[in-house]
Amino acid sequence: MPRGDSLPALRPDHDRDEELLDNHPAMDSPREECGVFGIYAPERDVARLTFFGLFALQHRGQESAGIAVSDQSHIMVYREMGLVSQVFNEQTLRSLPGQLAIGHVRYSTTGSSEWRNAQPLHRCRDHAAIALAHNGNLVNTDELREQLADRGAGLETTSDTEVIAALLAEHPADDVKDALRHVIPQLRGAFSAVLLTENEVIGFRDPYGVRPLVLGETEGRYVLASETSALDIIGARLVREIDPGELCWLDEEGYHIEQVVGRRQESLCVFEFIYFARPDSVVKGQTLYAARSRMGEILAEESPAEADLVIPVPDTGISAAIGYAARSGITYGEGLIKNRYIGRTFIDPSDELRKLGIRMKLNPLASAIRGKKLVVVDDSIVRGNTTRKLVQMLFEAGAAEIHLRISSPPIIFPCFYGIDMATQDEFIAFERSVNQVAAEIGATSLAYLSLEGLLQATGVPGGSFCTACFSGDYPCEVPESLKAAKFRFEKAAAAIE
Ligand code: SF4
Repeated sequence: MPRGDSLPALRPDHDRDEELLDNHPAMDSPREECGVFGIYAPERDVARLTFFGLFALQHRGQESAGIAVSDQSHIMVYREMGLVSQVFNEQTLRSLPGQLAIGHVRYSTTGSSEWRNAQPLHRCRDHAAIALAHNGNLVNTDELREQLADRGAGLETTSDTEVIAALLAEHPADDVKDALRHVIPQLRGAFSAVLLTENEVIGFRDPYGVRPLVLGETEGRYVLASETSALDIIGARLVREIDPGELCWLDEEGYHIEQVVGRRQESLCVFEFIYFARPDSVVKGQTLYAARSRMGEILAEESPAEADLVIPVPDTGISAAIGYAARSGITYGEGLIKNRYIGRTFIDPSDELRKLGIRMKLNPLASAIRGKKLVVVDDSIVRGNTTRKLVQMLFEAGAAEIHLRISSPPIIFPCFYGIDMATQDEFIAFERSVNQVAAEIGATSLAYLSLEGLLQATGVPGGSFCTACFSGDYPCEVPESLKAAKFRFEKAAAAIE
């Protein structure tokens, strides 16, 4: 069969686009949006290794999962709505034979949550097929869509990933890497992506390095992944991070790296440090558990509280709460018990149970908190609705005082680089002082970690991060049309005390 002629997108005969129950564990935090994985290992079961890689990246996206494999003559894609463990089983993994593979877990930011937007996306080029999986968000999608439409390229989905795939599909270069060398400079915004051809796995990262991408090695073969935790799970070691603007391809010879677009001021999303990436992942040489613990320590120095017990909002507040307790000398303990099996589920809890809301995820340990002055540590507050309910629940369980400590600064600017937050006037910290936010939430006191304290806690000397959702300093220019949809800009300065 000619190359690229066969590209079945395996799809079960049912659509599972029922309303998703948002059971995200952090609840009032920004939503991470995607994880990617790619491996070239002809001797091994690459679909299964990709499954495990995605399993380790599940926290980055719970709406859909997909794997594309190549047997060096055809590419097959299987993608479906749901968690990795819901989408794949023995049968589906066995139906994906190949020597190289990529995978994706998704939380939608651009494009709605439905099957056709699940990734990897596949496209036929003149000379070969490709499959593409993307983490991040382009800010010039509309402009590129218009250009593609003018050239007659049909787009089937609402995702920015399809725009990248379409640009690559229409490019006349025989070698997809040549197409990438022309297409990548046209892309604006955040992108860390993996691409599968019949013979190569290719990774590329935007010139600001907003989203992470790492290179690993296992048994002489190479792996690309959003986080090192996905390397650990398959026994791979970290080789290095893919630098901003680099193209990396894996093939029979090993790996190759080329600077394909000029590197800009590096701007890794600082929320990878605060909350997105797993605490056991290593970013810029720092284990995130240790960095988050330092955030708690600095928070304790900046904003002490007289209290009997430090408790985290599990799981994302745990590392910072441990640091806060260690530095303050206040006892650390559990005060909120999380349902360990919570995740995104397709089972509708019914209206009656839905009203219980937060209690499906967290339940206070009344015996531990009754009569106590609590320091409650969480990673961030976006709209504040869940935090308000949490505070109320802890008071109802008998807490005497609740001193809320947040291991990041107030969020007052929206994200355009792929993190689902809110429009500016939905942020509880927008146009409110810290004391006003505390009153809104019902906490005895509230304090946020300073931006300086946050950057110090990362442990990256001279580290260069995107901090736009705190500072409004967007590293990559955002078109006015996008800003208009999410900004109440003229009032934003008033929100900072
Ligand atoms: S705006 Fe905030 S969430 Fe978005 S990339 Fe920058 S730091 Fe991350």
